Amino acid sequence: MAATGAAGTRETGDCTDRPPISFELFPPRSDAAAIALGRTIDRLAEVDPAFISVTFGAGGSQRGRSLTVLRYILEHTSVEPMAHLTCVGSSHAEANRLVREFLDAGITSFLALRGDPPEGDDPDAGLGDLGTAAELVQLIHRVQEEREPFGESGVPGAPGARRIGARPRPERVAVAAFPTGHPRSRGLAQDVDTLLAKEVAGATLAITQLFWHADDYLGFVERARTAGVTIPILPGLMPVTNPARLARLTELTGVEPPADLAIDLEIEPDGEARARIGEEYAANLAGEVLRGGAPGLHLYTYNRHETVLSVLDRLGLGVRAGRRT
Ligand code: FAD
Repeated sequence: MAATGAAGTRETGDCTDRPPISFELFPPRSDAAAIALGRTIDRLAEVDPAFISVTFGAGGSQRGRSLTVLRYILEHTSVEPMAHLTCVGSSHAEANRLVREFLDAGITSFLALRGDPPEGDDPDAGLGDLGTAAELVQLIHRVQEEREPFGESGVPGAPGARRIGARPRPERVAVAAFPTGHPRSRGLAQDVDTLLAKEVAGATLAITQLFWHADDYLGFVERARTAGVTIPILPGLMPVTNPARLARLTELTGVEPPADLAIDLEIEPDGEARARIGEEYAANLAGEVLRGGAPGLHLYTYNRHETVLSVLDRLGLGVRAGRRT
């Protein structure tokens, strides 16, 4: 019955063999965006994803807004919310309080990240007490261990309702992985070593940075397995449907897009046709990594449901395939 495969831990009631799907959102920046995001979450929930993750600003700038979105998912859907947490710039005590705050809100799945320090001459300046994501993984487990065995938490699907019970343990502690290399990595071997260190620290799942070629992901997984990494490595895919966004993404991630995709998006004047180009590219890439053994798909949504749901439809993994029976 569990539709979770290697990447999942939660019974979903899905009777299909569909690979687990998950989504990433970011906190809205305005009230209007918050209303639109509520609708997007409702639509994404119809696909019965394994989890929906919500990003977190390095330095904690969006902490409250991240938590609001996570609470919405917890209280209005049956989908597992996953909180991104960053530790950059935090003292040990601050990171400890942050993890407790999210656990107290009923969030039990995390994507533990270091985050990026503010740009400056010394890239290691301002890192804080926890220098790597692996240390945050350990902290999340330790905070959970230290907590009282019982506590108050929200009731999924019942806004405002609270219940007393055994405190839930973290369902997942995910970490980031970089198939084409972290921008500061000295080589691909270091990215594999870093991932192994995160697994040793207690990570149960890895989610990759976006990539554009299936071989980048499949080669990374192979190297990671050879090095002893055993946790599922979920491919992170971002369907991109306009050239400006593609350029911005390249700037942010340093991952060069394929020239043919960049050119096709650039020369196509019609918005709908551009959307089809981006969706088709993402669907083909998703199909290739799934055939290569990927344990599921993690889709970066840009807070829009239309594009990612179209990609899933192209793959035959949309609402109908994910609907509970
Ligand atoms: P780490 O794993 O700690 O690695 C950081 C760097 O240190 C790497 O270069 C690594 O090679 C090196 N390193 C790590 N351990 C060691 C070691 N033992 N010895 C030597 N070198 C080491 N950022 C946000 O601010 N908010 C988000 O919500 C967010 N979500 C993300 C989601 C995903 C799926 C991904 C892939 C990235 C996300 N990021 C986010 C970006 C991330 O914070 C940055 O890429 C950051 O630079 C690295 O974070 P990390 O968790 O991979 O750090």
